[in-house]
Amino acid sequence: MSARIGFIGLGNMGRPMAANLQRKGFTLAVFDVNPAAVAELRQRGATAAAGSGSVGAASDIVVTMLPDSASVEAVVLGPDGVLARLKAGSVVMDMSTVDPLLTDRLAAAAAAKRCAFVDAPVGRLASHAARGESLFMVGASDEAFARVTPLLEAMGTTIHHCGPPGTGIRTKLVNNYLAIVSCGFNAEALALSQQFGLSLEKTLEVVHGTTATNGQLKIAWASKVLKGDTDPGFTIDLAHKDLNLIVGAAAAAGVPVPIADAARASFSAARADGFGGRDFSAMVDVLCDRARITRPRLAPDMGQPQPESD
Ligand code: NAD
Repeated sequence: MSARIGFIGLGNMGRPMAANLQRKGFTLAVFDVNPAAVAELRQRGATAAAGSGSVGAASDIVVTMLPDSASVEAVVLGPDGVLARLKAGSVVMDMSTVDPLLTDRLAAAAAAKRCAFVDAPVGRLASHAARGESLFMVGASDEAFARVTPLLEAMGTTIHHCGPPGTGIRTKLVNNYLAIVSCGFNAEALALSQQFGLSLEKTLEVVHGTTATNGQLKIAWASKVLKGDTDPGFTIDLAHKDLNLIVGAAAAAGVPVPIADAARASFSAARADGFGGRDFSAMVDVLCDRARITRPRLAPDMGQPQPESD
């Protein structure tokens, strides 16, 4: 009998990921606090569960794709959470970006119920998730990794087994540190270029031909903010949450990260300016608006179609 799959959290990422599982033939029991998100999956054949505990009771493998640590903790460890009703021998796979210390607690709680725990946070963006082209950073025992691999193959193209539980989420924080902080300094550099009155196209041509280049500026920004598209994608709110995780995890590990501290202050200010729900490439608009500098926008025939990983 094929494994029964539960999926909790059907937002910008979870909805297309669950839809790809359905397309590849998996039968799902789903739950989200937003009924509209559930209805869409239900139309494609999923069973709508009454809550997280019901998903646990109906599944051999439960996937969670939730916004933050608090929601994952409530859904997995809460009184009517997944672990309250999951049968021994089942698997919980959290794909959200959360505090690694929570991941460690979830793994211990799952082990106490004789269940396996997998952390498999996702690289790349919602547009990749929609095309089934996500990248996964997986922390799992070899046995649990083998059990979740068919699901990961249905949702993405690149799977990294980083080590035992807890290594996936820690790899994700290292990845997002680089990706998010680069948005901060890209914003400052392009605001300066605008204020100098330089040609945006020529400036990009120069920096893309030197070691100054980075994936956010070259690939993601060219098809997002520099084209005037700041729909998320990956929001400034989520980037700010990840910076909090990065700064907190670094403090717990005794590693000084002064650049992450400064980037977090910039992202906090962007949220205070009302940009929290915009794509994280919109950091340059925040800065330009504040300094009354014209927002940088490419001429219509410039740019590239593929946004890259967050
Ligand atoms: P989102 O806010 O679009 O979706 C979250 C979903 O969880 C929503 O549908 C919400 O209703 C649901 N939810 C919240 N609390 C719940 C609860 N207690 N019970 C059931 N459902 C609940 O967020 P997203 O963009 O899909 O991101 C999900 C996670 O993936 C985050 O941790 C984010 O950091 C990470 N991530 C996002 C991207 C991206 O590009 N958006 C890329 C990689 C990783």
